[in-house]
Amino acid sequence: MLARTPLEGYPTDGDFRLDSSSIPEPADGQCVSRTLYLSLDPYQWGRRRSGVEQVGDVCHGRTVSAVIKSRHPHFNEGDIIFSTHGWQDYGLTGSGISTFGYMLPRRVEPALAPISSALGVLGMLGLTAYAGTALQCQPKAGETFVVSAASGGVGQIAGQIAKIYGCRVVGIAGAQAKCDFLQQSLGFDAAVSHLSEDFADQLASACPDGIDMYFENVGGKVFNAVLPLFNRAARISRCGLISQYGNTDGLDPLQTWQHIGQAVFDQQAMTIHSLFVGDYVADHQKPFLEIMSQWVANGKVKYREDLWTGLEQAPAAFTAMLAGKNFGKTMIAVGDDPTLTDAISHRRSDGNILA
Ligand code: NDP
Repeated sequence: MLARTPLEGYPTDGDFRLDSSSIPEPADGQCVSRTLYLSLDPYQWGRRRSGVEQVGDVCHGRTVSAVIKSRHPHFNEGDIIFSTHGWQDYGLTGSGISTFGYMLPRRVEPALAPISSALGVLGMLGLTAYAGTALQCQPKAGETFVVSAASGGVGQIAGQIAKIYGCRVVGIAGAQAKCDFLQQSLGFDAAVSHLSEDFADQLASACPDGIDMYFENVGGKVFNAVLPLFNRAARISRCGLISQYGNTDGLDPLQTWQHIGQAVFDQQAMTIHSLFVGDYVADHQKPFLEIMSQWVANGKVKYREDLWTGLEQAPAAFTAMLAGKNFGKTMIAVGDDPTLTDAISHRRSDGNILA
């Protein structure tokens, strides 16, 4: 749970503490379930810093869990469900419990894909990538698509969707190993490290025909390097600005927006989409799940998870993610996954799945 406020910069271990309580009993209309996987996402830090969470609150987080006792009308003992139990071993699910109305609890089908994917490629992150890439940017074959935080939970999926549409895809990531992964494992056409001294030059070389679409996850100096390369009628999906969340990169948080304003002024017909995944759930979640499940099943979309083991690792994993030390979608294996087969266990033995 949250141990202190106000919170500054990036998180530290002292911001969190472990507490224990008895396993809750479900009231009528509720079920109690054991957390199997907990999703760690950058937006959670925004909630904590802005005071949505208070000292003593269970930290918010989406979960995949196994129902152990049910008085719920739709979920039975043994079901695997997606819910929002937060950073805890057990949680109650019932109507009105979810803190985000648009992420309602639902049953997860183990036959479809490994159940952890409900927090990643087949969950909110996959829908985010799909909405920003397919629905907002509307890629056309031959166009150049650039994505930042490209090896992360959202970025890796966004780039692969653009590849499916026939685009030239350029990823921006930190470590060289991440850049290699994007090209060698995911088939990106080029990958550039924002840690390189000549990052802006490298990006320009990787985009010889300019940039038609940009999936923005980072902001700050990364956006500054993208900005001069936009073609006329370029499309931006402004998904996130993670370099600003800890506000420690020395850049004025408003600078990115001033630069975006300048780009709109300079590049007539440019379109900037502000992306909020919640806007896409009602109309697009079902078709998204159908098409993404097919893409995952036939190998057109692969995904990498950065899997930590044990709830007590959540603060360290969360801090590592915000500092760019994650490699793939960050999540915690909280309890033993009863659906794991030998094949999935084997692929997960190095902490990752590459479907
Ligand atoms: P990631 O798995 O991509 O993890 C964050 C990554 O951001 C790090 O691995 C790091 O990658 C990169 N990063 C962190 N700090 C910096 C920095 N200062 N400069 C450059 N890169 C940095 O996270 P997610 O995929 O979960 O989220 C990606 C973005 O999408 C976030 O901005 C998030 O807020 C946003 N988001 C928005 C949603 C919406 O509805 N609009 C929904 C879901 C997510 P590297 O090592 O490569 O630099």
